[in-house]
Amino acid sequence: MILINEARSGKGRFMEKVNVQKIIDIVGENNVKSDPGELLVYGADSSVHEAPAWIVVRPENARQVQAIVKYANAGKIPVVTRGSGSGMSGQAVPVKGGIVLDMKRMNRILEINLPDVYCRVEAGVVDDDLNRALKPYGMFYPVAPASSRVATIGGEIANNASGVRSVKYGAVRDSVLGMKVVMANGDLVDLGCLTRVEASGYQLDRLMVGSEGTLGIIVEATLKFQPLPKFRCMGVANFDKLEQAGDAIAEIMESGCQPSLLELMDNVAITAVNKTMDMGLPDVEAILMFEADGMVKEAVDFEIEKMKAVCEKHEGSGIELSYDAKERTRLFAGRKKLFPALSMYKELLACTSLADDMAVPYSKMAETARKIHDIAKKNHVIMTAYGHCGSGCMHTKILMEPNRQDQWEDARNAVAELYEYVNSVGGTTSAEHGIGLSKAPAFKIEKAASLPYMHAIKKALDPNNILNPGKLQDAPDDWVKATRLRYQVN
Ligand SMILES: Cc1cc2nc3c(=O)[nH]c(=O)nc-3n(C[C@H](O)[C@H](O)[C@H](O)COP(=O)(O)OP(=O)(O)OC[C@H]3O[C@@H](n4cnc5c(N)ncnc54)[C@H](O)[C@@H]3O)c2cc1C
Repeated sequence: MILINEARSGKGRFMEKVNVQKIIDIVGENNVKSDPGELLVYGADSSVHEAPAWIVVRPENARQVQAIVKYANAGKIPVVTRGSGSGMSGQAVPVKGGIVLDMKRMNRILEINLPDVYCRVEAGVVDDDLNRALKPYGMFYPVAPASSRVATIGGEIANNASGVRSVKYGAVRDSVLGMKVVMANGDLVDLGCLTRVEASGYQLDRLMVGSEGTLGIIVEATLKFQPLPKFRCMGVANFDKLEQAGDAIAEIMESGCQPSLLELMDNVAITAVNKTMDMGLPDVEAILMFEADGMVKEAVDFEIEKMKAVCEKHEGSGIELSYDAKERTRLFAGRKKLFPALSMYKELLACTSLADDMAVPYSKMAETARKIHDIAKKNHVIMTAYGHCGSGCMHTKILMEPNRQDQWEDARNAVAELYEYVNSVGGTTSAEHGIGLSKAPAFKIEKAASLPYMHAIKKALDPNNILNPGKLQDAPDDWVKATRLRYQVN
């Protein structure tokens, strides 16, 4: 709090803790930011948390990253790596202060290798930019998070991101072949390989996936890509009851179909979209969007008809199907713009990402969606259920009055109750948005048995605890008290 006020008043004394000239010598004056306003901006991401950075540094290459990390390690100064700051759990928030390493200047696509079907990119390359570069070759990188316009490849790997197409093409971990990483002592190491299979010892590249910047700084990645499918057909079905949609999801996944997209929107989501985008969606408990893609039209026809039949069996109505790209965009528009729409659901309510992206087994999809609403009602907040349900991911947002302290208590209780339920059905705390700060308490309960090993790995790779300290297993147990909460006025 003191630090925040210092940053706000412009009287920061962070500079005493860092030898600014030393940093300028490494990256040049134009790539160092210490203006209090900038420090505040870099002190927040897309979560509810904020804490000011001491200094922001924008390296241009791996050599500069190494030099900065060596300097930080010698002085035990925290280093928080940052892509675009689109993380929703406070992963890039510098809770212990220190250097924020902005990777966006390292945005070169280094190689597109068609015969070996891989590309090499710097960590600051944005997902959509990579896809723009691959498209002329008839290829695509399939992770497709809803944030693909801003999310960087480094941020995606560090969070094991996934997205609408993960149901068929997997999460980031399924696209990563290897990477170059700057370790906490400043060493640059090459992890993984260029081949599809590897049985050569510990898979250290895998350890970096989902490590949220706590084990190393990814400076370059080698990624698989896929041929763009020639045909895509999207379907939409409406369901009067959430349970019918949930049962349809489970049966589609059990049927042997390989949907390339399978998304759910509940009534809160439908209401938000209708209110903000005037889409005229039906006032039902659930809408399901499904898609098949492939190189052979008959195969796509077969799959989409099968999914349609499953929806009909579970009383899905108003079913529309389309191969047309424009029509598919129209059918998906509400889901695509759902996150901003939720912020406009009701005056005074802020849309907060708290217990926002658990995953549960398919058979528990419907029950989870219903549970979300029951828990919301009990705790005087509004919650929505939507997400990439084909990959088991269930998103929720808590819509609450952030200026009321009691609402934070309500939110905290709702989050705890929801995660207790998710744990009880064999689900996991985060499907794709990561742990950071907000989800650490639930993560620690879920992974209790592995925590000592996680601590040991962290200690071995980062003995001075400089890389994104205070996150994941080291995050505080009470996220409400852990940092300043961005939406609060006090
Ligand atoms: C509207 C919206 C929709 C979203 N939809 C999705 C979605 O569909 N699927 C999904 O998975 N996520 C989604 N997200 C969350 C977020 O976009 C992803 O987690 C994304 O991968 C974060 O990328 P970033 O570059 O913004 O990383 P940041 O937020 O900057 O950083 C996130 C974490 O990664 C670490 N990190 C960043 N770069 C590196 C690096 N080079 N080396 C080591 N560590 C690094 C940081 O230290 C931090 O711990 C969404 C977010 C928003 C705001």
